[in-house]
Amino acid sequence: MHTITLIPGDGTGPELSEATKRVIEATGVPIQWDVQDAGLDVFEKEGTPLPQRVLDSIQKNKVAIKGPVTTPVGTGFRSVNVTLRQALDLYCCLRPSQVIKGVKTRYENVDLVIVRENTEDLYAGIEFEKDSAGAQELIRTIQKLTGKQIRPDSGISIKPISVFGTERIVRFAFDYARKNKRKKVTAVHKANIMKYSDGLFLEVARNVAQEYVDIEFEDKIVDNMCMQLVQKPELYDVIVLPNLYGDIVSDLAAGLIGGLGVAPGANLGENYAVFEPVHGSAPKYKGLNKVNPLAMILSGIMMLKYLGEFNAAQRLEHAVASVVGEGKEVTYDLKPSPDDPTAAKTFQMADAIIKRLK
Ligand code: NAD
Repeated sequence: MHTITLIPGDGTGPELSEATKRVIEATGVPIQWDVQDAGLDVFEKEGTPLPQRVLDSIQKNKVAIKGPVTTPVGTGFRSVNVTLRQALDLYCCLRPSQVIKGVKTRYENVDLVIVRENTEDLYAGIEFEKDSAGAQELIRTIQKLTGKQIRPDSGISIKPISVFGTERIVRFAFDYARKNKRKKVTAVHKANIMKYSDGLFLEVARNVAQEYVDIEFEDKIVDNMCMQLVQKPELYDVIVLPNLYGDIVSDLAAGLIGGLGVAPGANLGENYAVFEPVHGSAPKYKGLNKVNPLAMILSGIMMLKYLGEFNAAQRLEHAVASVVGEGKEVTYDLKPSPDDPTAAKTFQMADAIIKRLK
């Protein structure tokens, strides 16, 4: 019996979580769900979007699966997702992007794995609000240290990138490549402009690469990487990036394989693992039983593999491929036109997958 923390999330999160739970239960793997609410509604009730009980539950169970959680833009509480990743030191965000047969895409041979650093960079959450005492002091200090003048009406976000953080994420990328018989790791950066943060990332990546002579290594500047991925994604394999570029390039990679509805993910650390789709809470579709449950179900398949339940994972993969390949009982985003009247509802698609489980 596995005990798993289930965080339904908000927006479309609860319906996607319910669909995923049903599908995973149908595989017959014995799971006890420790359901822990977090997010916008919890913030209104409990004064924090991420109560300590949620962290305690993951620390106890070690493994969690989570629906998306809304983050207010610009103001309000800090992202639950970012806080979780930092509190549990989930330093790696692993996002495989592989075309699933039957999903309409512009490309055929995309099989990428995005390895995103999850704890540092502009996501570190070190920020100074415009006009705050901290921002003013920082502006004075920076002028003293560098002679450079930051405009006094600026807000400031800090971008730390460390040797420690880079070494472990690049090692993760190479170990993953070895274990999964991948051929190449590409490190992505903007070292030509940010010499001391991205430059350090590149220098450390090059050093780590020397320990893995069996895997090809190359680096690419992030803007060029985006163009290359759109033009010839089949040339790339495992891609390792600092946090912010990883976030952006993951969505780009999701677009290459048919969109956010089919892009799964995992946040991994030394001790804990939290599986979640790449997409957000898509609040405009909340409660409509409309959006695609696949990204979260595919995250569930990653979780089953992590738990060592390979047989169940494989059976579920086949069931998903069968439903998607047939193209009938799939949600609107997988239909030739988004207003196709034959589009399946979220739970209808989940039930179709359950029926195909052998
Ligand atoms: P989003 O991913 O929620 O939605 C963008 C669009 O993508 C949707 O309008 C929809 O057209 C499509 N989409 C997303 N999920 C889909 C699905 N399962 N099936 C079909 N189509 C789907 O991005 P957003 O609108 O930028 O963000 C909404 C909220 O989610 C924000 O508050 C954001 O901070 C948050 N967010 C949370 C997470 C997370 O919990 N890990 C990740 C990203 C964004």
